Amino acid sequence: MKYISLLTMIIACSGAKESDTSDSETDSDTDTDSDTDTDSDTDADSDTDTDVLTVGNCSTNIDSDVPAFYQQYFRCVDISMSGDDVVISSDGLPPHLSYYYGQGHANYTDFDRTGDREDHNPNPNRIASQNHQIQIPANPVSRNLTIDTALVDREVNTSGDEYRTGTVGLALDGVSLFNSLAAPGDVIENELSTFDVYQAHPENSGNYHYHTESAGPLEVLAENGYTTSTTPGEADIEVYGILCDGTLVFGCTELDGAGPDGTELDAQNGHVHDVIDDDGINHFDDRYHVHICADTFTDFLFTPEIQYYDRCSN
Ligand SMILES: [Zn+2]
Ligand SMILES: [Zn+2]
Repeated sequence: MKYISLLTMIIACSGAKESDTSDSETDSDTDTDSDTDTDSDTDADSDTDTDVLTVGNCSTNIDSDVPAFYQQYFRCVDISMSGDDVVISSDGLPPHLSYYYGQGHANYTDFDRTGDREDHNPNPNRIASQNHQIQIPANPVSRNLTIDTALVDREVNTSGDEYRTGTVGLALDGVSLFNSLAAPGDVIENELSTFDVYQAHPENSGNYHYHTESAGPLEVLAENGYTTSTTPGEADIEVYGILCDGTLVFGCTELDGAGPDGTELDAQNGHVHDVIDDDGINHFDDRYHVHICADTFTDFLFTPEIQYYDRCSN
């Protein structure tokens, strides 16, 4: 059985490679940060062999005209404006330990098979630097979908409203967010056994990605002073990232730390309301977002399948 799940994993993620290459076309923005970190995208392998990459020492460049939400909650990324849109760029290297860095890398750690991970086995891929870039529309337009279990069917290519494969968003730590779908004939649950302790894995181009809740983005929130715990389900606030259409990915809390109203969630744990932080600042009016909270909202445990807003720019 282990052999089969490994095989399905390789197949499942093989479709992601093509869409990732499209990310690299828009790297013209990276020259705006030349004063501090221009070499960070090219030296990933040689430098990090001696120093562990962390949310504390990663390169972060957020322009001063970028909205406060991004200033407060992201690290290890470059963020700038393009008109009214927010452009987030990242090399996708996780600023935490992972088996998938490979032995000899400073961020390498052994694959954990303790406790409920005893049936886990890694896939053969290794983390490689990427050229992620997503552009968040300033005013996303709803597709007016009814996101019910008929639409959220957990199968790829059954609806034109699914997120594309590959990178569809970025986590607070610059790591890629994938949707919740596996390749045809497979289901996401078969991928779980290859997740490292951060509940992530790389596909065959080395694009390391999250499909669900993870301590990785919570470590950014801890670094920025918003939580003491980095355990999913236990943090003071739980934000994971943002998707290309403007959908936000939260955990077991709203942005102010309150528990979400579970009675109004759709089939992928999404709902619409103002996104207000602990200081009472409203960052997004009536914004669709999803809550990944495995212990509480048990019907759906992953990043969303269906794209609520009308466009993903790249
Ligand atoms: Zn995956
Ligand atoms: Zn909510």
